[in-house]
Amino acid sequence: MREERSPAIVLRTRAHAESDKIVTCLSRDWGKISAIAKGAKRSRRRFVNVLEPFSHIQLRVRPSRSEELLFLLGAELIQAFRRPSDDLERFALASYIVELADVMTAGREAGQDLYQLVLDGLSALEVRAELSPLFAPLFALQILRQVGYAPDFSTCQRCGTSLAEQAQDGAGIALSSQLGGLLCPGCHGQGGTLLRLSPQTVAVLRAYHDPPVGISPRTRQEVPALVTRLLSQHLTRPLKSLAFLEQVGAWGMRPEAGAPEPPRN
Ligand SMILES: [Zn+2]
Repeated sequence: MREERSPAIVLRTRAHAESDKIVTCLSRDWGKISAIAKGAKRSRRRFVNVLEPFSHIQLRVRPSRSEELLFLLGAELIQAFRRPSDDLERFALASYIVELADVMTAGREAGQDLYQLVLDGLSALEVRAELSPLFAPLFALQILRQVGYAPDFSTCQRCGTSLAEQAQDGAGIALSSQLGGLLCPGCHGQGGTLLRLSPQTVAVLRAYHDPPVGISPRTRQEVPALVTRLLSQHLTRPLKSLAFLEQVGAWGMRPEAGAPEPPRN
């Protein structure tokens, strides 16, 4: 039977039977797949250090009778992301990246863009000297966009008005959880429960990126609150890594990071 290869990122592993391991990966070429590594627990040499979460590996597999589970023939390390293992905050962020990618994708539908997004997220944790306090919620927003669940941040979901100018003068744009999108001030009454957003938050959401300096404390609270509401519509249970992120202060608001609030006018 033929061997197939693809680069992949290890999302999680679990023991199977006495000596096997099942590894779930996000692969570049086949989406999310699981493969069984026969004897992986007994013969450590065969898969030394490669079947660990966050590892970027070259997978060698062969199809099995079950569509769901492939046979893992071998795996070579392309890159180990080492920094998360010496830094609790980066470890929590890397755990969040892989868990979110895992729960938001069902099997082989995940495309190459999602693989690249996860790889870029882990690479950022490895190489960036400073991390944005909004790293995790903005990553989640990018995943939502990738799988087609991110709302349109540029127009009012009720009347279709462009929100671009209103965001600049701060005229009270809000998220309606009910409609899964933003509302202009004129439509607030028709959106059910609202989460009011500051102009800076709307700008950050639209760019999918935070400004290089001066993220206000308000934006640090609003972006994670909004992402939490959007994710809750697609998740059946809270992510395990979210509690960990909150513990290390990496879910948005990090008071000790102390960025000064920009002057109000
Ligand atoms: Zn409107």
